[in-house]
Amino acid sequence: MTATPLVRFAPSPTGYLHIGNARPALLNALFARAHQGRFLLRLDDTDAERSTQAFAEAVAEDLAWLEIVPDLFARQSDRAAIYDAAAERLKAMGRLYPCYETQDELERRRRRQLGRGQPPIYDRAALALTPAERTALEAEGRKPHWRFKLDARTVAWHDLVRGEATVDCASLSDPVLIRADGSYLYTLPSVVDDAEMGITHVIRGEDHVTNTGVQVQIFEALGSAIPVFGHHNLLTTADGEGLSKRLGHLSLRGLREAGYEPAAVRSLAVLTGTAESVRAVASLDELAGLVDLAQISRAPAKFDPQELDGLNARLVHAMPYAEVADRLAALGVPPDGAQAFWEAVRPNLAKVSEAGDWWRVVAGPVTPVIGDPAFIGAAAALLPAEPWDGETWKTWTGAVKATTGAKGKALFMPLRLAVTGLEHGPDLGGLLPLIGRAAVARRLAGAG
Ligand code: GLU
Repeated sequence: MTATPLVRFAPSPTGYLHIGNARPALLNALFARAHQGRFLLRLDDTDAERSTQAFAEAVAEDLAWLEIVPDLFARQSDRAAIYDAAAERLKAMGRLYPCYETQDELERRRRRQLGRGQPPIYDRAALALTPAERTALEAEGRKPHWRFKLDARTVAWHDLVRGEATVDCASLSDPVLIRADGSYLYTLPSVVDDAEMGITHVIRGEDHVTNTGVQVQIFEALGSAIPVFGHHNLLTTADGEGLSKRLGHLSLRGLREAGYEPAAVRSLAVLTGTAESVRAVASLDELAGLVDLAQISRAPAKFDPQELDGLNARLVHAMPYAEVADRLAALGVPPDGAQAFWEAVRPNLAKVSEAGDWWRVVAGPVTPVIGDPAFIGAAAALLPAEPWDGETWKTWTGAVKATTGAKGKALFMPLRLAVTGLEHGPDLGGLLPLIGRAAVARRLAGAG
């Protein structure tokens, strides 16, 4: 690779990013990371009606949560003059032409074509209009929309994911680039930006393959360098249904609020539907090293949202204290002893937030469950003297076993129920010194 790669993620800010949008965002960011390139966040916000500032801010926040920090930022709504200049050039060369058909007219024509067994391709009737006819239509109050005149040929490229790829532009309608209200569809601004900003690699979903055929012709018409393209498979639900921003499917902020780790979401969004097994990868560098665009499957990347739970749990079990110190403090865990607490409870957590529940068990009050007061009374009498440490639980249960003869579950379960009020939980060897002798003695006496 000669030039430093410059890639971009170009969402339209018309909804919250979902886990399927995280896939191109991450594939681009990881590609930049792996190739010492740069990453541009570009808001494709030419649809003024549906784009909002709140969604634009949410895009940046959600990327930050995934630890994607753009090197560059742009928004299309700031750049209309640049698109206008390109549109004028295309008009001057006869590649962009005005059309006056209404939606109804186009629909009727389409149905006629289908009825005759013809493909429903725009018939270019507007190209045959004389200047006088155009003037007459405009005098009626009709405003033109503008179509790009495609060359009837096949566009071919070497796709980073799909290998040799082709689009037969002879089978496509000339695409509308400018709406009757003068606003741009995404097609032209995207090409103009990619060219002007020097985007080297366009990595995006395979729903854009046909667009690429069209856009390559626009790059050529404008005399611009054509970037390298890679079209990845899309994340779908287990039954093959696509995700929708509009329907709020598995939004990144929803996942964040539900307490998932960004690394779990990253691992699932990136590794599903690739040659790699889906596993919990904590670091961005390691994940970047696992991405090989050529190894991405051609089949849809089906995923089960429940996989996130397993990935999340594995990440949490391996998470060092330093990484969660702030979050534990926010959950009410005092800094003194927080590391020992984290190490004691970590293996039992599916999400970091659950540490708060275990802290309440440590700090109390709890509701001790005492089934056999005589047994618990004997155990209370055998509580070791302080100081307590990681061995205290073993010492104590050893003494209780020797005195009462109880062993296994009959030994441990009544003690756990009395000390924590719960049947399950983290290893008491770690928790006991944190609860402390006075509180344990109180709980064994039946008081929380
Ligand atoms: N705004 C387009 C989208 O969100 C960008 C596609 C592209 O990457 O070119 O689908």
